[in-house]
Amino acid sequence: MSEDWSMGQEPHAAVLVARGLIEHPEKLDHVLLDDEEGWFVSDGTEFGDDPELDQDQFATMCLHDVVELLPQLTALAKLPAGMGADWDADSASWVLISPIVPSDDEETRAYRDARAAAWPHAGSPADEANLSLGLMEISTAADAPARRVRYASRDEDGTWMFVGFDVPDPDEETDVEVDTLELGHVAQLYPDVAELLDAEPGEVFFREAPDAEWLQMIDDGE
Ligand SMILES: [Zn+2]
Repeated sequence: MSEDWSMGQEPHAAVLVARGLIEHPEKLDHVLLDDEEGWFVSDGTEFGDDPELDQDQFATMCLHDVVELLPQLTALAKLPAGMGADWDADSASWVLISPIVPSDDEETRAYRDARAAAWPHAGSPADEANLSLGLMEISTAADAPARRVRYASRDEDGTWMFVGFDVPDPDEETDVEVDTLELGHVAQLYPDVAELLDAEPGEVFFREAPDAEWLQMIDDGE
């Protein structure tokens, strides 16, 4: 085990790992971090309702052994609970996802209600927000550009859009490719947008540099 342990969970935390990955770690497909910070690591095999089949297809391993097998997991050390990521081997990047939790049992509902009750801003943490693709990715490259939000706007219908510094001209909104994450996940990934989240629909914010103050853009009709 490495001395500079960076994961948010303890080294011996139990991880559910698709057995195929033990022989073929290059087949990594996606990971999920559940509400209770339990990791699930898959080669595309889904965890199902058949305990015997699941037992055949998945093994339980210590997180430190999984990190040794799949070192790219350390790039997700700060992943918020309840999120997931698809592994893109070609770009050696993770693409973040807010997974849809299909189960509607009492526990899931209680978690969702507690999360909504703790949300201090307008709307719900489960609302979909649009993000430029750079904000959706976590690269494992050492020289990857800083993932920070440069531009944030709240649509007239209340939907948020966030654009990162990876996009050359954030004013060219129509050219920005976006995907969606839950607003609550965005606020955890990019805590410096939290101060904006009580904005009224139609408000737009911008900053010149990753550490600069947020400025509100006023539409002067030009
Ligand atoms: Zn261990």
